[in-house]
Amino acid sequence: MLNPELCAASALIHDAADPLSGFAAEFHHPRDAAGRRLVYLCGHSLGLQAKSAAEYVEQELADWRHMAVLGHHAARRPWIAYHELAAAPLAALAGAIESEVIAMNSLTVNLHLMLISFFRPDAPRNCVLIEKSAFSSDRYAIVSQLEFHGLNAAQHLIEVEPRAGARHLRTADLIDRIGREAPRLALVLLPGVQYLTGQSLELGPVIDAARRAGATVGLDLAHSIGNTLLNLHDWHADFAVWCSYKYLNAGPGAVGGCFVHERHARRFDLPRLAGWWGHDKSTRFEMGPEFRPMAGAEGWQISNPPVLSTAPLLASLDIFRRAGLNQLREKSISLTAYFHRLITGLLPGLVDIITPEAAAERGCQLSLRLALPAFEAKRCHDRLTAAGIIGDWREPDILRLAPAPLYNSYGDVYRAVEALARAVRS
Ligand SMILES: *Cc1c(COP(=O)(O)O)cnc(C)c1O
Repeated sequence: MLNPELCAASALIHDAADPLSGFAAEFHHPRDAAGRRLVYLCGHSLGLQAKSAAEYVEQELADWRHMAVLGHHAARRPWIAYHELAAAPLAALAGAIESEVIAMNSLTVNLHLMLISFFRPDAPRNCVLIEKSAFSSDRYAIVSQLEFHGLNAAQHLIEVEPRAGARHLRTADLIDRIGREAPRLALVLLPGVQYLTGQSLELGPVIDAARRAGATVGLDLAHSIGNTLLNLHDWHADFAVWCSYKYLNAGPGAVGGCFVHERHARRFDLPRLAGWWGHDKSTRFEMGPEFRPMAGAEGWQISNPPVLSTAPLLASLDIFRRAGLNQLREKSISLTAYFHRLITGLLPGLVDIITPEAAAERGCQLSLRLALPAFEAKRCHDRLTAAGIIGDWREPDILRLAPAPLYNSYGDVYRAVEALARAVRS
């Protein structure tokens, strides 16, 4: 059992030594009715608002107010190419080259667009492999695409799950299963960080296995982008999709993102759902009848960019650029390890951490199961919220808490564990 006073003191020491501690002040932290700052550990669901977001949005409102349609070319950040401003910083976070990434639509929409191009079932190769506890929207999207091709989930959806009694997928098991299913495998779709358990999959070797099996491979990076280090170009994934309102702090429903590997940049033979914004930009406004897609990820765009929902993304990406993803990840590893130590040290036997312990196998989130009857556990989450600690509850029994290295401190983590200890024991 750790000593609480010593833990509080160590939080202060860690925060004083943290070179990134200044970034917390660049965000608005929510407060309770009495004006006290809440401890926000819910960046895995909706990231905090950067203080600069308002300026970015106001700039576009002002340009719209003052110049209306002329803003397409004359705005401070011309709207016609607004999404291009996100490409370099997104590429840095994704481990991609600029032409491989595009800010557009939202995650599930992008997943559908990618499936139209990269899920080309052709018997006997007409199955999709996903994980059994895949995010609901991913499964809905996949099943609807199977049905769109005249296939069905019962025969064409392969769902992998951890071994009996285990919580996490093992890389070797995944690779083995992919190898065994190879002849009928058209597509493998996997998450980076699993939303429920917080497990970060070992993507490189799994992608290699899927490619060896002759399948295309797509990734859902909703919980990975801005959280873990990604290397999409070198991993050779076919495509990846993400949303920007979680660790990228771009605000509710913000514009999402998409990666298409460079080797597909000029695959104009692939079917794709077309729109004018994917058309060659040098001749787009000739409004000709023939669709000529741009090379690279931009060629999968359909509509002109949603400027107001992209503005807060640019604000946040600028903060990521200044902080540096490697430094953020380094802090994140240390912060989450500290979180893990405090929970096991201050709440021995009372909390089961279901997220893997190795840094390489997790991002910043810890998923907890409380050693209480289900009803009590949920009440415990309510007490935690009332005490000013914001995490979230996933039915039936998982409490997710994620210290984001950009705006959370070791002191936040200490306050959260102290409140959790009180909530569990009361
Ligand atoms: C948050 C999340 C989504 C969100 O999908 P939208 O289309 O942006 O609403 C999808 N997949 C996963 C794994 C998520 O965590």
